Amino acid sequence: MRYIKLRTKITLISAIILIVLACTLTLISVKSAKKTYTNEFEMSISDGLSFKLNDKKIELGSKGSSNLGDILDFAGEVVKSLDKDSSDLTKSDSKKISVNQIFNNASNEFTKNSIIIMSALVILGIVIIYKSVGYALKPVRQLSKSMETINANNLCQKLEEPTSQDEIGSLTNSFNHLLGRLNETFESQKNFTANAAHELKTPLATMKAGIQVLEMEESPSIEEYKETVEVAKANTERLIHIVEDLTNLTKQENLHFTDSIDLADTIEDCLKELEPISKQRNVTLQEGDCEGVILGNQTLISRALFNLLENAVKYNRDNGYVYVTSKKEGDQIKVVIEDNGIGIPKEALPQIFEPFYRVDKSRSREIGDSGLGLALVRNIIEKHHGTISVRSCLGQGTTFEVVFNKEV
Ligand code: ADP
Repeated sequence: MRYIKLRTKITLISAIILIVLACTLTLISVKSAKKTYTNEFEMSISDGLSFKLNDKKIELGSKGSSNLGDILDFAGEVVKSLDKDSSDLTKSDSKKISVNQIFNNASNEFTKNSIIIMSALVILGIVIIYKSVGYALKPVRQLSKSMETINANNLCQKLEEPTSQDEIGSLTNSFNHLLGRLNETFESQKNFTANAAHELKTPLATMKAGIQVLEMEESPSIEEYKETVEVAKANTERLIHIVEDLTNLTKQENLHFTDSIDLADTIEDCLKELEPISKQRNVTLQEGDCEGVILGNQTLISRALFNLLENAVKYNRDNGYVYVTSKKEGDQIKVVIEDNGIGIPKEALPQIFEPFYRVDKSRSREIGDSGLGLALVRNIIEKHHGTISVRSCLGQGTTFEVVFNKEV
């Protein structure tokens, strides 16, 4: 049954139903006909005319009655049509004819005809069903053929939209949506791999260049060695940073989400850690009203809030400020981090959560950032079933809003 085509399967099932129904109908009609035909029926003409059906006898008249002659003539005609040997019936005094044999023959004839007609109709029905199912499944075959042409290189291609809005239409639409989502994932996967390769290649190339310069020197000085080692150290740290961020981004296993996280405490710890870099640029760190406890992973939440606050300091201006609050709103807790820094251009906003995306690539690399910070933040927030959004105005500042859906 697994290898039988759908068209054949539907035809087979319909044929079985058709045969069962046709046989039942034929059987019922033959049975009821037989019941009628097998009644004991007798007609006698002697003194008068009488009909006997099983045990019931009907006398129609006696000799001498006014219309008997007509009745006798009529009976004679009937008998003649039933029994060819009774041509002289009207002249005989008494003739008893049993028509059961004739009825039996008629019954058999009826049964035979019924079976022949039923078989012919069933065969015709099966042919019609097979053709109709083939016609109905034609769009499915076409859809399947079009689907076969889709591969990793043409995921952006869409199947032709059907004109009808039946099941095939909605299947095509769903498939097109699926293709769209697959294409997006595939593209972002490709970008991610290309970006990761580029990010890892840059520090390695810098180290290699430093070593090659050193090799070209006949007798390099201690200073030159030290310089090369410094460059190698800085780049190795950068590589470690990238690899750590990448690992955190893809890490799934062994994570527990059972810590009671006091957001006020967590924010305070992050701000303390950021004090040294905020002092360098004279950026004020302000903690507004902070409340709320959520259930989750303390390390991850600390990491996410730290990244957001660190960005607010890093992408700030001298003498700027960072203002952070966390408020309960119904069942939700909203953490808002606001700064009056350099801001983000409008066109860059949809991409800032993508891995390795940086608004100002050279500047970000200079301060040693991987461009994975916000991707990691979004990943962590999503793991906690929260949402993150951003509003920004270039040159005026940026506000990140994180919403956690459940308070403990
Ligand atoms: P990076 O590691 O470069 O900081 P992120 O993923 O943390 O990468 O941020 C992506 C980009 O978003 C940054 O390069 C920066 O241009 C921009 N960005 C993030 N936060 C802010 C902010 N508070 N103000 C201005 N720009 C920001």
